[in-house]
Amino acid sequence: MPKVNTVLGSVSADELGVTLIHEHLALGYLGWECDAMAPPYDRETAATTCVEALKEANAYGLKTLVDATASDIGRDIELQKIVSERLGINIVCATGMYTERYGKPGYLKFRSQVYDITAEVYETYVKEITQGIGNTGVKAGVIKVATGHGKITSYEEKILKAAARAQKETGVPIISHTEAGTMGPEQADLLISEGADPRRIAIGHMCGNANLQYHLSVLEKGVYIAFDRLGIDMLFPDKLRKACLMGLLGIGYADKILLSQDYWPYWLGRPFELPELAKPLLANWSYVHVFKNIIPALKEAGVTDDKVNTMMVDNPRRLFGEE
Ligand SMILES: [Zn+2]
Repeated sequence: MPKVNTVLGSVSADELGVTLIHEHLALGYLGWECDAMAPPYDRETAATTCVEALKEANAYGLKTLVDATASDIGRDIELQKIVSERLGINIVCATGMYTERYGKPGYLKFRSQVYDITAEVYETYVKEITQGIGNTGVKAGVIKVATGHGKITSYEEKILKAAARAQKETGVPIISHTEAGTMGPEQADLLISEGADPRRIAIGHMCGNANLQYHLSVLEKGVYIAFDRLGIDMLFPDKLRKACLMGLLGIGYADKILLSQDYWPYWLGRPFELPELAKPLLANWSYVHVFKNIIPALKEAGVTDDKVNTMMVDNPRRLFGEE
């Protein structure tokens, strides 16, 4: 029985239950801490906010949340532990780096002038998965990779290769960030060519692209795809995300699709107030949109409970190593 690292210890893959494969708790972009007007980070406030935001999802049966926060955009292991304990849900944390554009590549770029950073990042990932993150004793349960829009930079390529090698070594799955659903096939090819197991790869943010041919070109690599930005109308219309999802389910891909929302309730930095006109574009963005709106819409369209269960329970379990 494959074991999955959660922030409170390991569980077997069949204990994961209903899983959201790509969410966040606290999240901050590079440099937020340089903003003198940003409220200072307060872990207890963050914990209260996250627990409050997750309660309703818990009531819908959520058992496992994968916190996709890479180590360079605000990952807080202690916060994850507190939220997991208070809610009684599994939280799986990530090792991994964000995109070159929005992550923290400075240190690695500097070292890359002399050293092989693919080898160094591989060591970091394996260390965080097998021995734990810092001195927290918490082991990472997924590897997060990320690439920018329409291009995989040479820095990102090095990081993706490190992730693939760490996947091969540890068996831990890879979840990815694609920008607006671009570079999915290229991510899959790069990871697989470097030794990653396609059955342990989920190409993320694919719902930012409604081109069915594009989806099929990723699916034919044998990887999972994630519709994990449901509710973010501001980036791409939910209607198109749903239409595309229903199309793929209609031709038999329920066993390759994961659903999530890429939601975070606690933002590091100055408050990010949306203009009044833009507010409806995030009205559904929450931890419960999948349960409250998407699943009922799928059922209305004739998608069976079995298929919903496949996406919410079986696919995450299989991604984590149990067939
Ligand atoms: Zn995310």
